[in-house]
Amino acid sequence: MTIQTNTTRADDSPIRLVVHGGAGTITRSKLTKELEQAYTQVLAQSLTAGHAVLEAGGSSIDAVIAAIVVMEDSPLFNAGKGAVFSNAGRIELDASIMEGSTRMAGSVAAVTTIRNPIRAANAVMTKSAHVMLMGQGADAFAAEMGLEIVDPSYFYTQFRWNQLQKAIAEERLMQDHDVVPDTPQPQMDKKRGTVGAVALDRHGNLAAGTSTGGVTNKRFGRVGDSPVIGAGTYADNHSVAVSATGTGEIFIRTVAAFNTAAQVRLQHIPIIEAADNTLAEIAALGGDGGLIVLDAKGNYAMRFNTRGMYRGTIGSDGIVQVGMFAADDRAVSTSNSHDTR
Ligand code: ASP
Repeated sequence: MTIQTNTTRADDSPIRLVVHGGAGTITRSKLTKELEQAYTQVLAQSLTAGHAVLEAGGSSIDAVIAAIVVMEDSPLFNAGKGAVFSNAGRIELDASIMEGSTRMAGSVAAVTTIRNPIRAANAVMTKSAHVMLMGQGADAFAAEMGLEIVDPSYFYTQFRWNQLQKAIAEERLMQDHDVVPDTPQPQMDKKRGTVGAVALDRHGNLAAGTSTGGVTNKRFGRVGDSPVIGAGTYADNHSVAVSATGTGEIFIRTVAAFNTAAQVRLQHIPIIEAADNTLAEIAALGGDGGLIVLDAKGNYAMRFNTRGMYRGTIGSDGIVQVGMFAADDRAVSTSNSHDTR
């Protein structure tokens, strides 16, 4: 399968942030000009928010959180405010974060009331003795930690509700025709909108984070790769920081984020090649998606084997670059980019 983007740069910049907003069937013909602009704007906001942290000497963890919170608060992405619905008409959010110098990590799965699950993942990492909390316990923990709790209705968007109704109708149709008699089929193959970020701070520390609503029409407490350390998220200063998006079950089975990091650390494989190897393994098992990868020198890669991936990066020059479609990175000037040069 062709890997459709080719974006990596080695530069001497001491800071770097790379974000993604999901990979999938993202093509020019499927996006209106207005939507394209809206995505560009939120990706740029996310990048400038994280960059401001790094520029001020803040940590890569804080930059990852700042970048992801912007996307979680936007209805455009399948994370936080714009999350997809489960079969039961519920929002169940997953998120994880990892720090590269200590390899400390935190994650939450299937939470329903936390406005910014990435903050909850960070609280698990920094304020609990655990790595992963799920369900009501995780919601209660976040409340105890003073994080913003919202009524589940906060996450309702008409667009996602319609997506669920369509998925249920399609599933019924397939069952009526005995295509998949007993197997519930969540929406695996559509445009996705999981969000993630990887950052390198001035102190040479890497961090990675990922946040998602999972897949439309998911059932039985399904949890994907995003909150699974090593699958959806990984960071180690000795190799790379990685955030993934795609067919979660297959990213878990290929341990996608760690797989990529292990190739870099143990086999000294260049990061583009490592990401492509992982995506090839995923494709061979019937999955697809994308990976953002960043090493401690500031080399980065944004790779995907889908039609497109919402993505962007910013370094110490403060220039915001955003891409969506294959082979389509371009500079976007924002007022912030001038301030931070
Ligand atoms: N990987 C996510 C999940 O399976 C979905 C996505 O990235 O679009 O939950």
